[in-house]
Amino acid sequence: MDEETAAAELMQMINGYQVSQAICVAATLGIADCLGEGARTSDELAAMTAAHPQSLYRLLRALASVGVFHEGEGRSFTLAPLGRALRSDAPHSVAPWARMVERPYYRQAWSDLLHSVRTGENAFHHAYGMGVWDYRARQPEESAIFDSAMSSFAPPVAAAVLEAYDFSGFKTLMDVGGGQGVLLAAILAVNPHLNGVLFDQPQVVAGAAATIGAVADRCQVVAGDFFASVPEGADGHLMKWILHDWDDERSLAVLKSSRRSIEPDGKLLVLESILAPRNEGARAKFADLNMLAVPGGQERTTEEYGRLYEASGFALARVFDTGPRISIMECRPV
Ligand code: SAH
Repeated sequence: MDEETAAAELMQMINGYQVSQAICVAATLGIADCLGEGARTSDELAAMTAAHPQSLYRLLRALASVGVFHEGEGRSFTLAPLGRALRSDAPHSVAPWARMVERPYYRQAWSDLLHSVRTGENAFHHAYGMGVWDYRARQPEESAIFDSAMSSFAPPVAAAVLEAYDFSGFKTLMDVGGGQGVLLAAILAVNPHLNGVLFDQPQVVAGAAATIGAVADRCQVVAGDFFASVPEGADGHLMKWILHDWDDERSLAVLKSSRRSIEPDGKLLVLESILAPRNEGARAKFADLNMLAVPGGQERTTEEYGRLYEASGFALARVFDTGPRISIMECRPV
């Protein structure tokens, strides 16, 4: 690659935040749902979304230049293939995640990434004087936006997990930090013999009724703090995208809570995106920076997870690869 091409490519990466923010604003306004299968002028869209007409036009034409929308005659717009994934009814809708990424507190944490890299401190904590979970607990709107972003990832992940792992041996499966229960409900739905326990913070499980509706007779919902303890009686513990939120010390505290309560012949399933070898696996490596900036956690290699299990009374038995997003680490109490 010659230097000029390299500079141009890098420039595109540098300005990538502009594309990101523009997509997130379009998602927050709900433009893709207003378009559906049809075409609308930017003025119509501005009226539907209470936006400033000329500024919305500028947003839409920019996004049409990168293939999110398509601009036709007379400032009319339709969804381009990429933009379809912004519809809330799309099977792999990224709209809830885009709406979360648009939130100023989230962007603020990333704006302070330099501070994290210089000091090792969590950028969010530096900017707001508290951890992001405490912040969300005090801001119900932010908590709801985050919970729905997490829930939106669950259906494709649930499908991959169900394909890779056989849950038929469990009697009671508890999802520790299970959010609003999308994954647990999907597992219970195809394992009719299984009972479930959804465990998360009070303000999170308060919104779980709709998600677990179909399996509610077999699913107990428990609110609590996983650093203090998790409920007894389950022979399966699930932790998806929990340990990556925390440093080693806090992760050990969660694992020890699980170890204290899990049945002696039980299994702990940790679902995380495991770090790839050098020069590969951008998704997990950028997720790792996200963990540094926002919750103050980290992504890890299998060996790093293994050390945490050992220090908390578990042994890593097997790793199931379920695709690029997530691996299942099966651990047994020792
Ligand atoms: N497992 C879900 C949610 C992951 S996000 C999924 O993969 O979609 C991390 C979850 O940890 C959030 O739902 C958050 O509410 C929960 N959490 C954070 N601190 C907690 C605590 N102290 N006790 C219990 N749950 C906690």
